[in-house]
Amino acid sequence: MDIFGQNVFNDAVMRKRLPKATYKSLRKTIEGGLPLDPSVAETVANAMKDWAIEKGATHFTHWFQPLTGITAEKHDSFISPTMHGLVGMEFSGKELIQGEPDASSFPNGGIRATFEARGYTSWDCTSPAFLKEDAGILTLCIPTAFCSYTGEALDKKTPLLRSMQALSKQALRILRLFGNTTTTQVTSTVGAEQEYFLIDKKFYDKRLDLMLSGRTLFGAMPPKGQEMDDHYFGSLKARVAAFMHDLNIELWKLGVLAKTQHNEVAPGQFELAPIFGTTNIATDHNQLVMDSMKKVALRHDMVCLLHEKPFAGVNGSGKHNNWSMSTDDGLNLLDPGHNPHENFQFLTILCAIIKAVDDYAELLRVSAAMPGNDHRLGANEAPPAIISIFLGDQLTDILEQLQNGGITRSLQGGKMASGVETLPAFHKDSTDRNRTSPFAFTGNKFEFRMVASSQSISGPNVVLNTIFAEVFSQFADRLEQAENFDQALLELLKGTVANHKRILFDGNGYGAEWVEEAAKRGLPNITSTVDAALVLLRESTVELYKKHGVLNRTELESRYEINLERYCKQINIEALTMIDMAKHLIIPAAVKYSAQLAGSINAIKSASSAVDISVQENLLIDLCSTLTSFRSNLDALEKDIQGSASVPDDAYAKGVYYRDVVFRGMKALRTDGDKLETMIDAELWPLPTYAQMLYML
Ligand code: ADP
Ligand code: MG
Repeated sequence: MDIFGQNVFNDAVMRKRLPKATYKSLRKTIEGGLPLDPSVAETVANAMKDWAIEKGATHFTHWFQPLTGITAEKHDSFISPTMHGLVGMEFSGKELIQGEPDASSFPNGGIRATFEARGYTSWDCTSPAFLKEDAGILTLCIPTAFCSYTGEALDKKTPLLRSMQALSKQALRILRLFGNTTTTQVTSTVGAEQEYFLIDKKFYDKRLDLMLSGRTLFGAMPPKGQEMDDHYFGSLKARVAAFMHDLNIELWKLGVLAKTQHNEVAPGQFELAPIFGTTNIATDHNQLVMDSMKKVALRHDMVCLLHEKPFAGVNGSGKHNNWSMSTDDGLNLLDPGHNPHENFQFLTILCAIIKAVDDYAELLRVSAAMPGNDHRLGANEAPPAIISIFLGDQLTDILEQLQNGGITRSLQGGKMASGVETLPAFHKDSTDRNRTSPFAFTGNKFEFRMVASSQSISGPNVVLNTIFAEVFSQFADRLEQAENFDQALLELLKGTVANHKRILFDGNGYGAEWVEEAAKRGLPNITSTVDAALVLLRESTVELYKKHGVLNRTELESRYEINLERYCKQINIEALTMIDMAKHLIIPAAVKYSAQLAGSINAIKSASSAVDISVQENLLIDLCSTLTSFRSNLDALEKDIQGSASVPDDAYAKGVYYRDVVFRGMKALRTDGDKLETMIDAELWPLPTYAQMLYML
């Protein structure tokens, strides 16, 4: 309790340190969404500075989230020269509200040419300022949005805040229809479960691929993967427990509600889940979680891998984005209550969500599209790239009743029957879980499971907020006009279920049959980041974002460019890294081993002609032929990379080339490389193996 929030300029600190009027005015902006009164900034800045200096800080930074998907900071000290060569410590209201980083080197997708690279950061007072601690040095971090001189969002925070506003506005219209006159704001809430891997740093240091690309580009399968299911929820290793303990303390200091931790499915894989909060803060906090994981791991001589697929052959990492909506008077709008069949406000919201997910499935897909996530979505791993919704027995039953005429009942969970008398009896949930659905109702929230482990959760939540705002607005447009509300509502809900039930799927989302069934239902299945990007340019997408003031055409076009550009760059880095490792590590090892074999064959031959040397000879033949194939695949990959220069200068065309030519070439090279690993003397093999990296923690 003492540690929690100690490095946060939170409500309690503000209440204590700010004059009453300033505090009240600020709360009106934070909670009520009213514009910030500029005169409060001066007072807040001063209080913030005093607080930070008392804690030992000398610097502040505007902490922002450019389109790299990670965070950025440039530190300024508080010092200001006075007379006689001395300094005072100052921090003005202007410095709090506004910054102008010379930020021309962030991706902007063509919005800003570098010669006119003015960009502004502006204080987001809805997310509390905090002190970041690096090696005991504290820096005051002010969460900020980042926009261009012309007002376009160059970051992940601005559109998120815009989408939250849009959602609140449209959700309120729905609440008013059901007689709610008290709620003044609806906020989307998020709990982001974060998966990650830990490996010993001594292995990481010998893996150029992990260092440069975040994933292993070579590596033969170990004899044991995750098939025994013995890592999942297993007892924590001491070293991991110590890491988690330190991580929790760092996060608690930052006011992050770190709550759940456990071993995940793959060996060396773990998860952390915080308690949910408003989407904006949850997004900032998830960045702090990822950043802290990396830093704390290093203190324990480990490296935290956040890549979606660091190791082929075992599960990759994702982020489960649990999403709901809360009202300012404390209601969870996705709580069905005990008798959802009587809760028409809930059923209306539910139907709107079903329609939105069906109408905009491709936008949801694009929100989780990253080169790293292509190894999960649509590859031979879960979750599938097809969006579907799992509702569970109770809600499925209610929607069926709705279609068949009248709704009269809600299925209940009943008593838990374990068959053991001494175990406590309790009421079960009304519905079982489904772990394979990309978009699952889990009791009082939806869980969007496609999100990539390393990405900012902003993008997915921008889409969720915006598409739900859109369908709420469609519903409200219709119902506000209705002469007979009850009848109009029933028709609307019935029609929605009939038109969109194709998106509902309670079966196994990992099965091959689902891919076929989904195709029959006409559900989109976009398997790569490259194709997903095209959705951003569609006229329907532009219209949607424009209507709700979330992103304009220029901003969408820039995100399209950036998505594809990053895809190409990532694959290019991976391919070049493979070539480097192949030339400087793998080929030399193979050459050395073949020379050793040849030497041993000659030595034995000259010692005695009676000895059977077929094992050595066959090994040498196999080794050399694999090496030949490896070399020719290497040459081909080098050519493929050079070939990218002659692809027309178009983001999509380049993306297709990198996916269909370069990425394919990498796979061929890896196959031979991994085969060489299985043949060569362990003493000579220059890379830490999968078994070492996954099991030696
Ligand atoms: P799982 O069974 O999926 O592993 P966890 O308990 O680990 O579930 O995580 C569930 C996540 O959902 C937590 O982060 C939790 O705080 C979050 N959550 C719970 N209620 C809500 C809500 N109303 N809105 C958003 N997130 C929520
Ligand atoms: Mg989950």
